[in-house]
Amino acid sequence: MELRELGGTGLRVSAVGFGASPLGNVFGDVPRDTARSAVRRALDLGVNFFDTSPYYGGTISESVLGDCLRHAAVPRDQFVVATKCGRYKDEGFDFSAARVTRSVDESLVRLGLDYVDILHAHDIEFTSLDQIVNETIPALQKIKESGKARFIGITGLPLSIYPYVLDRVPPGSVDVILSYCHFGINDTSLVDLLPYLKNKGVGVITASPLAMGLLTDSGPPEWHPAPEQLKSACRAAAEHCGRKGKSITKLAMQYSLMNNEISTVLVGMNSSKQVEENVAAALELSTSGIDEELLHEVESILEPVKNVTWPSGIEQS
Ligand code: NAD
Repeated sequence: MELRELGGTGLRVSAVGFGASPLGNVFGDVPRDTARSAVRRALDLGVNFFDTSPYYGGTISESVLGDCLRHAAVPRDQFVVATKCGRYKDEGFDFSAARVTRSVDESLVRLGLDYVDILHAHDIEFTSLDQIVNETIPALQKIKESGKARFIGITGLPLSIYPYVLDRVPPGSVDVILSYCHFGINDTSLVDLLPYLKNKGVGVITASPLAMGLLTDSGPPEWHPAPEQLKSACRAAAEHCGRKGKSITKLAMQYSLMNNEISTVLVGMNSSKQVEENVAAALELSTSGIDEELLHEVESILEPVKNVTWPSGIEQS
């Protein structure tokens, strides 16, 4: 598996990253043995980056990922773990300094780790971005100084949140961003922001290459926030691939992996089979390239919904 530099962190992360939200049962129940085999298989195939959050499954994803990593018995310096703070299933959003400071301790206990490699403020568009600038990032800096997190990130859906925050914090205080659903076949809007992020020296993680299940044969979960026109266009694209005996998921995975300025593509996985398929898609891309004909056909099916997204967060004053 190809390793890529993550901004200026010095971390080298696998191009395919393991999104652990499915381990919190958010896309359906995952038996513990299945979860352990998926993580073990990922490590064996060279996937070294794992992403979780206290929010996923109301802390279940963190606990299960911690268990799977312990079970895999891999030396701590052989894998990179990111978790998040500020978003909780029961409490909602709380980006106060006190809450995020307590949060990392809770996460470390659940993960069974002494430190996380990356601690993100999770979905920051749900609070005042000025609070993120003035209170949350300084608190995360202190956590970084304590050694409980090596690097700091911010995540969220609207792309405008990134320049807002990065233009107002001291240079170097945010190491990475995690953007989701904005670099895949149906939505490429993250591309416009890449030169800005590079200039700031901020590492780029992208997530949800399958658009949170839209670009799969089984389709999205019931809670998926996309408007119906996007859901039906993605369904049509998946059916088109199916009729040709091809996989929309493989195509979507490969598409997101094609941009080397994005260090890692987090895909949610819940079984060894999915791990093997997604890693195979990456290897095939590096040896044979993408199926251009199928890509053009799928792009034209999705053209009417290109960059269609959905609202997320509070209105910023
Ligand atoms: P995704 O686009 O990766 O889709 C995940 C879905 O696709 C799951 O149902 C999974 O089982 C399925 N899938 C994966 N591989 C498959 C395969 N080969 N064949 C068929 N189905 C397959 O969406 P996601 O899980 O939401 O995003 C990936 C990860 O990124 C998350 O787990 C999370 O770690 C991270 N993420 C973070 C944020 C944030 O910080 N705000 C937001 C979204 C995602």
